[in-house]
Amino acid sequence: MNHNHNIPTLRLRRGKEESLDRLHPWVFSGALSEMPRDIDEGTVVRVEASDGRLIGVGHFQIGSIAVRMLDFADTQIDEAFYSGRLNDAYALRRALGLQRPDNTAFRLVHGEGDFLPGLVVDVYGDTAVLQAHSPGMHFARDIIARELTRLPGAGIANVYYKSETTLPFKARLDPQNDYIIGSYSGNVATENGLKFHIDWLRGQKTGFFVDQRDNRALLGRLAAGRRVLNMFCYTGGFSVYAMAGGATEVVSVDSSAKAVTLTEANVKLNFPDSDTRHRAVAEDAFKHLDAMQRGAYDLIVLDPPAFAKHRSALHNALQGYRRLNARAFEKIAPGGILFTFSCSQAVTREQFRVAVFSAAAQSRRRVRILHQLTQPADHPVSIYHPEGEYLKGLVLYVE
Ligand code: SAH
Repeated sequence: MNHNHNIPTLRLRRGKEESLDRLHPWVFSGALSEMPRDIDEGTVVRVEASDGRLIGVGHFQIGSIAVRMLDFADTQIDEAFYSGRLNDAYALRRALGLQRPDNTAFRLVHGEGDFLPGLVVDVYGDTAVLQAHSPGMHFARDIIARELTRLPGAGIANVYYKSETTLPFKARLDPQNDYIIGSYSGNVATENGLKFHIDWLRGQKTGFFVDQRDNRALLGRLAAGRRVLNMFCYTGGFSVYAMAGGATEVVSVDSSAKAVTLTEANVKLNFPDSDTRHRAVAEDAFKHLDAMQRGAYDLIVLDPPAFAKHRSALHNALQGYRRLNARAFEKIAPGGILFTFSCSQAVTREQFRVAVFSAAAQSRRRVRILHQLTQPADHPVSIYHPEGEYLKGLVLYVE
């Protein structure tokens, strides 16, 4: 049955249905037989193969990705659709045991990984922070917000919409940063029993990097008795876990003074004033690494921002990772542990590993890989959309 007889249809060029037949959710503009001129961005469209066979339905937008597929059938994209997908997403987080009194921060929707391309939702206690990366999700924001508050057992009372920095062509969409439902109800969330102020009003992304939860926990287990440097600390997640894990000294560094203030506040939230193991410094990473003494730290975390936002920046990004890691290998104490990450989607796991390998070889030290890290299970990767895997990390033992 054709539910969608009144919505626009886009036709693919011959042979361009191949990746979609393998359920990959993107239609590139070059795959369309003709670029439509009369369809508004964010409109739900049907997509057909060159022979007229239905491929599915998705959100249209202007750019290199022309359609983000919502379903590979003639599905009506309405309240019931969003409700179904959000319930599926929440069922997975429940299965993972991520919502507990001692863990109130988790990602509820991870775009393509939850079959909702263009949508990210992070939950902090009773507040959900919603980010639209596509015009289609921007126009659906009110329905999505309402369905979030209806998820049985999730306890979501407030929905904050934050898309000013994530939407393309923002001038035409008027993306407000504001509460769609409810209002401010406090901003302290708990992660593995540790407390964090989450600043979704002014912070980066949704206010916190939930994607490092498991990796922070691993660091906590390895931190006992170590002097720790947390480089690119942002909210101080790794610093708080290091202190809880028994580090003897923790230094947090970020070039942003705001991040340093946030880190200090989060340390204060978890440890009494009499605990003097922590200090935070607002300084450029390279400057700090160059100036610091050899052997000053037994555990170093390097979690920089994405060096390559696009494929064109790949070469410089790899160079950046190599230079950054080389300094850590040069300075870390013997028997030291290095946690090093890349969150650039354009950099593959293998490319990152080679960059770190080159940095290690430059130091000529004995280096072993202890753990290979990735994003946690609440950032799932659709098997049909391998691009969804973006976080890569290595834990290295340096003699
Ligand atoms: N590790 C953090 C996330 C890091 S986000 C966590 O677990 O939450 C990246 C951080 O790097 C941002 O806070 C940004 O301010 C900082 N940053 C960017 N460029 C920098 C530079 N050159 N030197 C130091 N910090 C930098």
